[in-house]
Amino acid sequence: MSSTGKVALITGANKGIGFEIARALGRQGTTVLVGARDEGRGAGAAEKLRAEGLDARFVRLDVTDPGTIEGARRRIEEEFGRLDILVNNAGISGLHGWDVPPSRVSLESVRHVFETNFFGPIALTQALLPLVRKSGGGRIVNVSSGLGSLTLLSDPGYEFYGANLLDYNTSKTALNAFTVSLAKELKEAGIKVNAADPDYVATDLNAHSGTHTTAEGADTPVWLATLADDGPTGGYFNGRRPIPW
Ligand code: NAP
Repeated sequence: MSSTGKVALITGANKGIGFEIARALGRQGTTVLVGARDEGRGAGAAEKLRAEGLDARFVRLDVTDPGTIEGARRRIEEEFGRLDILVNNAGISGLHGWDVPPSRVSLESVRHVFETNFFGPIALTQALLPLVRKSGGGRIVNVSSGLGSLTLLSDPGYEFYGANLLDYNTSKTALNAFTVSLAKELKEAGIKVNAADPDYVATDLNAHSGTHTTAEGADTPVWLATLADDGPTGGYFNGRRPIPW
């Protein structure tokens, strides 16, 4: 396999959609940094990808822990001096079941979800941006959800209209707002920032109730991570097509 010479960091890459994003980028010849908060799980995932012939390396990274963010930044700077692709994939659902209405969702759960799904990506992206600027055309992908779209959630015809999860949904709406805002700032620098809805994918997040495979879920994030220079920025996509905010 020929190398793209690119370096990509994927958060939450030890399993689920993140692992599949790492695998797909690795198969293209990109060096993939498998971000994971647990050493055993992360090292195991990187080992599995290496066994497939990919250049995969484990990086310990809990997006809610500034110490591990700084450790990852230092390591990437020392080993590569730049970062070409950042995929903010790590994400969690709330502390309640899926059927607790907004009037009863605890603030604790909202804050908990926001730490990982919103504040984490901001903190990590800000820390790594100097390295992304050193890439000849950086790409930042925020793995959002259709459940972050206020337009879709307001449409009774939307397939997931009933998934009224105040904590999770608002964290993804906020992540979408971060995407728009950062894309605007980085447009002139040639760094593309986009949000991806991977669709309803069978993973631990939904007790494997999703109707799509992780490979299908990884497709749009990988496409956004490898956009050509004339590709879009500041957009929100499902199945490689724009969806409404
Ligand atoms: P998953 O299988 O549960 O994977 C989530 C990943 O995030 C795991 O690797 C997990 O690590 C990691 N993670 C959680 N908190 C973290 C933290 N603080 N720091 C670093 N890593 C952390 O879920 P998934 O379905 O693949 O989800 C990936 C992304 O897709 C999420 O952002 C999710 O919101 C989004 N998404 C999923 C679906 C779907 O249908 N599955 C739909 C729309 C959007 P551990 O193994 O250590 O827990």
